Amino acid sequence: MKSILINDITLRDGEQTAGVNFLPEEKLRIAEQLVKLGVRIIEAGFPIASDADVKGVNLIAKRFGDSTTISAMCRAHKKDIEVAAKALGGAKKGRIQVVMGTSDIHLKHKFNMSRKESLELSVDMVKYAKTFAEDVEFAAEDATRSDLKYLVEVCCACVEAGAKTIELPDTVGYATPEEYFNIVSAVVKAVSADTVVSTHCHNDLGVATANTLVGIQAGAKQAEVTINGIGERVGNASSEEVIMALKARSDFYKVDINYIHSEEILRTSKLVEELSGIKIAHNKAIVGRGAFLHESGIHQDGVIKSPQTYQLLNPRDIGLDGYRLVIGKLSGKRALKERMDAVGMKLDDEQMQDFSVFFKDQAAKKKFITDKDITTLYEKWLSKRI
Ligand code: MN
Repeated sequence: MKSILINDITLRDGEQTAGVNFLPEEKLRIAEQLVKLGVRIIEAGFPIASDADVKGVNLIAKRFGDSTTISAMCRAHKKDIEVAAKALGGAKKGRIQVVMGTSDIHLKHKFNMSRKESLELSVDMVKYAKTFAEDVEFAAEDATRSDLKYLVEVCCACVEAGAKTIELPDTVGYATPEEYFNIVSAVVKAVSADTVVSTHCHNDLGVATANTLVGIQAGAKQAEVTINGIGERVGNASSEEVIMALKARSDFYKVDINYIHSEEILRTSKLVEELSGIKIAHNKAIVGRGAFLHESGIHQDGVIKSPQTYQLLNPRDIGLDGYRLVIGKLSGKRALKERMDAVGMKLDDEQMQDFSVFFKDQAAKKKFITDKDITTLYEKWLSKRI
């Protein structure tokens, strides 16, 4: 079974989320947690951007760069590459990533360069990066809006120049899943078999994870993803979604992701939430608060009988101790009884029947029922009976 390399780019693209700034020591804390999660590659920063990024990349490379690949981003500039190499500090598994646009939109408006000039620059910078690191990744920025023939030509030339990984960013979240499949397939077919092709998908149309998964089906062996899906604008494909999709549907994807310790997902997610200040939405896949909550009676009855009736994932697989039942007006007697037992209130069947009618009537007036609310309602119910 082919292994999919998870390249977590929370510390680089994730940090590019408007309003997010990780201090070097915070980057190190997140990197420590990413190592526990088991990701194969950590993209640690963009060293030329600031001294703080040099420091962050350097701290991480020093601590983990002999066992986990630590990647530093560069534009196609010599100076970027020199600063990145210095930040990586000769770490055994240091990787230099060279980014250069391949779409006519980027060439014309951003670089004012011809296709030929851009190709030559990319090749030169990959070669230059190779003088500092064995492991070089080339990223064809805006790959999905590039002329496919030209994109393939640039990728092949960069592989020839020594790039071992070719990243195909959907920089503005433009590609449909079918288009992304076709682009990745075309590049996978054109480059040598030992080249790793990587996905890098943005979520502007809400399909970043879907695009990453079809990219893997098309032959990509690396996925660039961020914890909680943070990143430029509305973010990147999320690490936890891609990992759990590959794990939960291993029957379909048939790729190896077993080296990941998925039970560290929730801890990692919470740490990134805390240090980025970007709150996780209730309905965020995998790590949202709603992921393992059940309120409606039919579903509660089902998961009490057997969790697999209404639960695709096992909460323990992401580091939760179990699913949770929420009590509200849609809840059944069975779940209410379970919660009553849990807070130490025992009622016989007849009392339970009477209490649950009273409870449902009262619960309809509230948004969320806590254990304390149950106790209060129980006392209110008792006083009515006397
Ligand atoms: Mn990006």
